[in-house]
Amino acid sequence: MNVYTPTSITSNCFADSFLLLNRRSNSNIYYCFYNTKRKVKTLNQDFISHNFKIQAVEKNAPQLDVEKLEGSTTKSGFNSFSWPSPEDEIPFWKREFPSWDINLDGPVDIKKDSDLIHIVHVTAEMAPIAKVGGLGDVVTGLARACLSRGHKVNVFLPFYECINKQQIKNLELVNTYDSYYDGSWVSTNAYQGVVSGIPVIFVEPSNHFFKGQCVYGGSYNELEAYLFFSRACLEWMQVTGTQPDIIHVHEWQTGALPLLYWDMYHHLSLRIPKIALTIHNMEHYGECSKEQLSKCGLDGSIYATEEKAVDDRTIGHNPERISLLKGGIVYSNAVVTVSPTYLKETLCSGWLAGTLIRHREKYRGILNGIDTGMWNPATDIFLPAKFDALNIEEKKTCKHFVQRGLGLASGGHQMGSHAPDKVPLVVCITRLVPQKGLHLITHAIKYVKEISGQMVVLGRASDSRVEREFKDLADLHNNGSSIRILLTYSEELSHMLYAAADMVLVPSIYEPCGLAQLIGMRYGAVPVVRKTGGLADTVFDMDDQSQPEMANGFVFEGIDEASLNWALDRAFRYYCGKPNEWSAIVQKVMHIDSSWNNTAGKYIDLYNSIRVRE
Ligand code: ADP
Repeated sequence: MNVYTPTSITSNCFADSFLLLNRRSNSNIYYCFYNTKRKVKTLNQDFISHNFKIQAVEKNAPQLDVEKLEGSTTKSGFNSFSWPSPEDEIPFWKREFPSWDINLDGPVDIKKDSDLIHIVHVTAEMAPIAKVGGLGDVVTGLARACLSRGHKVNVFLPFYECINKQQIKNLELVNTYDSYYDGSWVSTNAYQGVVSGIPVIFVEPSNHFFKGQCVYGGSYNELEAYLFFSRACLEWMQVTGTQPDIIHVHEWQTGALPLLYWDMYHHLSLRIPKIALTIHNMEHYGECSKEQLSKCGLDGSIYATEEKAVDDRTIGHNPERISLLKGGIVYSNAVVTVSPTYLKETLCSGWLAGTLIRHREKYRGILNGIDTGMWNPATDIFLPAKFDALNIEEKKTCKHFVQRGLGLASGGHQMGSHAPDKVPLVVCITRLVPQKGLHLITHAIKYVKEISGQMVVLGRASDSRVEREFKDLADLHNNGSSIRILLTYSEELSHMLYAAADMVLVPSIYEPCGLAQLIGMRYGAVPVVRKTGGLADTVFDMDDQSQPEMANGFVFEGIDEASLNWALDRAFRYYCGKPNEWSAIVQKVMHIDSSWNNTAGKYIDLYNSIRVRE
């Protein structure tokens, strides 16, 4: 019996819990939570799997007994967590989870690049602390991949009031400086801290910008706040003498930075940086008036030309409008979008096509990756049981866990039973916006039920009409045994759903890259997708005989319900009628390497192609 005294207990970010760290092992951290308020003890299964069992933990206990279990195996057991139920006072995805240092799970054998550079991302989102969609995942994943190749990387992020500061390590104020906005200088704090191993500079103006409970949709003028942020990042570099090789901006929110850089800061003291812009979604183009653009200190009227930043559709109108995204395309040294097929689509349609064609030589399509440290079913702390491509048995436990927690009928999964489960579970995890194929999602809910499957939708709508429509659907279906519609954002639940799912549905009308299908595959969920953008680059139909070695999912082309039905029917037929082939697909999709380690090299090549060499 090992006895741990309270010195080995450190208080953690959860106010009424303790985190026990076994510091004797360099490679592992074992944890146990004892929530003194609700008198609930949650044993993390890692504890069991490493042959330890907590006997008792009392607040202020003089000592803590930890007993080594004789003969226990490294395989997790069903008793290592408590099964959830829809009646739980706290839903299972809101239970307390240990803080997760993904650096521990990061790749260790990445070869360092020989020619190292300094890259700075300027972004409105960063996972996991300020994530709304894929942008946040991409910034964190790409930054971590470049760090692991030896490069110096920083991220600049607005210090949104809603950021949970406990997720930031070593947070400290670096300096206070003034940045220009609308005729005056705004006192601004720059903090630094570490998020998922990445050094981040948080920009906090002393005005009302970035206040509120969400990343987007605060009561301030968003466009003006991001114009301020774009300039404040350059101002910080100017006052601190920081000259990265590359400033990498993302989306319309930071589209004004290249204008500010080339027309202002490059003439001050910033000489070295070159600018890369990644467009994650062409739908949002940062519509702005000349007057608004002038508020960041540029003369807005000089950008209202076809070659610079005017929104081509407004030429000759009164007033004409400016697009920050177009300005960003024109003024950046390199422009990237997030998949080769989306690149082709954007050159063929949409009002920005003309600008992109004019700047074709600097425009590239680089497929997004996923962070395989963050998205790893073998180590994911949110999962009740871990699994990987070589040992997928515990995926069934995850499915059963989610089914029980949501009150869905569970297909006869018994403790220790390996019997095939006859009811496929389809998940759809998405922002509920027209781009994502709302009519196809609502149709799938009905159709999956009709063909005796189960479906869980996890989504958040920003539009009140869409919210209402899905609320009505939730009221209609959520008391039954096969459909759950959860209108919320939950990182934890998304991990559990990917792990539980047999299929992940992505029926987008257009999709620049799409991460849901990549994450789904990593967790053994077979994708059912519409053939568009990055979905067309990453999912290949099982019944397409022309490239059987690539086949990894079910693809449909039309935007009509019958096309979706056809794909779902085929997926269900495989699942129910060809269990061996299904298992083979699941293993195949889990083996696909969609990691940033695989694709970050393309960004490094791009950075190298534009940077200033001494
Ligand atoms: P987009 O960037 O257009 O939203 P992507 O597929 O590129 O779409 O990325 C979406 C990311 O956001 C994925 O990581 C997905 O799991 C996550 N996500 C979307 N909606 C939710 C939600 N309601 N709760 C948790 N995660 C979500």
